[in-house]
Amino acid sequence: MSCIIIGASHAGVQAAVNLRGQGYEGGITLISAEKVLPYQRPPLSKAFLQDTLPEQRLWLRPEAFYQQKHIDLKLNTRVTAINREQQTVVLENGDTLPYSQLILATGASVRRLNLPGSERKGIHYLRDHSDTSGIKAQLPDVTNVVVIGGGYIGLEAAASLNKMGKNVTVLVNTARPLQHLTSPVISDYLCRLHEDNGVTIETNILATEITGGAHLDGVTCDNGKHYPADMVVAGIGVEPCTELAAMCGLAISNGVEVNGYMQTSDEHIYAIGDCANFHHAIYNKPLRIESVQNATDQAKTVAQAICNKASAYTALPWFWSDQYDAKLQIAGLSTGYDEVVVRQESDTSLAAFYFAKERLIAVDTINQPKSFMVARKHLPTLPNIDKTLLADPDVAVSDIFTGAEACLT
Ligand code: NAP
Repeated sequence: MSCIIIGASHAGVQAAVNLRGQGYEGGITLISAEKVLPYQRPPLSKAFLQDTLPEQRLWLRPEAFYQQKHIDLKLNTRVTAINREQQTVVLENGDTLPYSQLILATGASVRRLNLPGSERKGIHYLRDHSDTSGIKAQLPDVTNVVVIGGGYIGLEAAASLNKMGKNVTVLVNTARPLQHLTSPVISDYLCRLHEDNGVTIETNILATEITGGAHLDGVTCDNGKHYPADMVVAGIGVEPCTELAAMCGLAISNGVEVNGYMQTSDEHIYAIGDCANFHHAIYNKPLRIESVQNATDQAKTVAQAICNKASAYTALPWFWSDQYDAKLQIAGLSTGYDEVVVRQESDTSLAAFYFAKERLIAVDTINQPKSFMVARKHLPTLPNIDKTLLADPDVAVSDIFTGAEACLT
C-alpha cells in the first residue's frame, strides 16, 4: 500500500500528516517541484515580505518531522505524467513510482499580465517562496511600486511595501478593491485605511503598457496617465493547476472534479485544495475555494476517505487578511447576498453581516473577532437573527445568536 501526494503546500502536507494521524501504515511520498521545505503561504505577502518572520518559521513542519513520520519528501521533483492503468506517476528524470492512492494537491498558478512590456525585468508576482524572495532581493533599489490588482494579494502587498517605506500605487480594474469578494462598506474601510497610510488607490483603471529600458520606469494606463515604477507587483488572480489531471483523462471543469470525499472520476485518485472543484454540501453547488482553511479541511476529508473512515466534506469556508492594524476575518461566502447589516463598534471595528432571503449567509469583520467567532460557530443554518439588535454595538453578539438558537428549540 502506498500513497503519492503531488504538491506539498498546505493541502499536500496536511494530507500526509492526517494520513499518519489516521493510522495509514503504507508508504507516503510527498512530491514538491520547489527546492525549499514546504512552507506557509499567508506570510509571503505579509511578515515574510516585510522581513519580520525568520525563514525557519515559514516552514509548515521542520525537516526532521517528515523523517519521523516516514514521509518521503521529494523536493525539486516534478511529475510529468500519471499512468492510471499501471497506477504509477512518471517523474521528470524518467523514474516511475507506483501508487495505491494518488492525491493531487497541485494548487494554482498565477495569471500573468499580457500587455506590452509585461516581460520586462522588475515585474513580479506573489504566490511562491521564490516570488517573495525575488521581490525582497530587488527592494533596496526600489522607490516607487505599482501594484496591479485589487484582490487580497494586491492589498496585502501594498500594505507591506508601504510599511517598508515604498511609494505604492494600486491599480484596481473595478470600482473598488475586493469588489468580487466583499461589500462596499468593507472595501471603503480598506481604501481609507490604505490612503491614510499613504498608498494611492486608483479605481476603474487598466494598465495598458509597462515602460522602461534596462530598468522599469512606469506603467501607462487606459486613462492616459503614467505612474512611475521601479517595480511592478501583479496580483491578478490564479488558475487551478489541472494539467496532469487533464493529461490522464480525469474530469475537469474549473478544477479537477471531485465528489464529497475528494475522489476524482478515478476511484484511486483524489484532489484537494485550490485545484479541486467539489460540490459544497452547504451551498449546494460546485465550488473551488482558494484558501488555507479549505486546503487543510479537505486534507482531513481525503485522509479519512483513504483510511476507510469516510466523512463527506461540509466545512464552512473562512478566510483572513491582515493589512496595517486591520484584521479582516470572513466566515461563509457572501455571494448572492441581498442585504447587509453593519455593526460598527468603534472607528476601527466593524462587521458586515450578509443576508439572503432573510437568512444570514456570511460575515466580514474588521477588528471584531467576537462577531467573527460567534457567526462562524452558528453559520450557515441559523434563521431568526434580529437585524436591529445585530446593528446595535451595545448588545453582545453572542446573546443575539443564542437568542436566535433558542427560537429554534
Ligand atoms: P483575486 O482575489 O482573484 O484578485 C485579483 C483581482 O485582480 C481581481 O479583482 C481581478 O479582477 C483583478 N484583475 C484580473 N486581471 C486584471 C488585470 N489585467 N489588471 C488589473 N486587475 C486585474 O486574486 P489575488 O489577489 O491575485 O490572490 C490570488 C489568490 O490567493 C486568491 O485566491 C486569493 O484569495 C488568495 N489569497 C488570499 C489571501 C487571504 O485570504 N488573506 C491573501 C493572499 C492571497 P476580475 O475579477 O475582474 O478578474
